[in-house]
Amino acid sequence: MRKILPEKLLTPLVEINGKKNEWRYKKRRGEKGVLCLCCGKTFGSFMDFDIGAVYDAERYAKTYRNKICPYCGSFPRHRIICYYFNKNKTALPEKGIVMFGAERSIKKWFDRNGCRYTTVDLFDRTADVKVDIQNMQFPDKTWGLIICNHVLEHVPDYKIALRELKRVLKDDGILELTVPTDKNLETVYEDSSIVKKKDKIKHFGQSDHVRMFGNDFEKILIESGFSVEIVNGDNLPDETAGIVGPADYDDNRVYICRTGNIQNDGGSRC
Ligand SMILES: [Zn+2]
Repeated sequence: MRKILPEKLLTPLVEINGKKNEWRYKKRRGEKGVLCLCCGKTFGSFMDFDIGAVYDAERYAKTYRNKICPYCGSFPRHRIICYYFNKNKTALPEKGIVMFGAERSIKKWFDRNGCRYTTVDLFDRTADVKVDIQNMQFPDKTWGLIICNHVLEHVPDYKIALRELKRVLKDDGILELTVPTDKNLETVYEDSSIVKKKDKIKHFGQSDHVRMFGNDFEKILIESGFSVEIVNGDNLPDETAGIVGPADYDDNRVYICRTGNIQNDGGSRC
């Protein structure tokens, strides 16, 4: 669809689909239902994820059902982030918010809470500003909150990207990060000789991924100069069910990174 329709028509179409899905997945009488913490709407269930040809279907086999918000398209990771935002509204800046990718679900939460934000991306034409995360045009300490979900597995050098993220983050700012993580891996797995799409799917789970992160991602962040608070999706209320996925590596951990000391709860994990 993206190739056929001009970009300016896409957003209204998503809105129309959202309305249609909202009706289709409506919570019926007697159903327990689910709550999307991003758009604030309740449904009978979330939607299954459309695996498509760009993903590793085997890795998605057990984790693609009941995952996507029918209205705003949130994944579990987005709902975990909005759970954190709901609990920590006072820690969020009123301005200076930037988001990699124009993520509809997070935008819904920002809109509902009166937050102004800028969207940036290298390829997404709906984003406000074209930005290469490895070489950003922003001055040092520009942003009070950076939202960066599932970006670092795409870029040629994630360590340069982390350095850039640290550079443009204000001293009291928050960097919110998520990455695909394979719990069977001790450390990050990358191999620049893997270039064919089908091989990337096999090795990294998706045709445009160039690496998979492992259990030492928190250590990598600390070594990059951040203090790290982990928000674990397992601890969310039952009604937000469908916390891991849609792939097994689409982890339920959200990393809240700061350049100073953790301020809001002394480092305890949600
Ligand atoms: Zn939603």
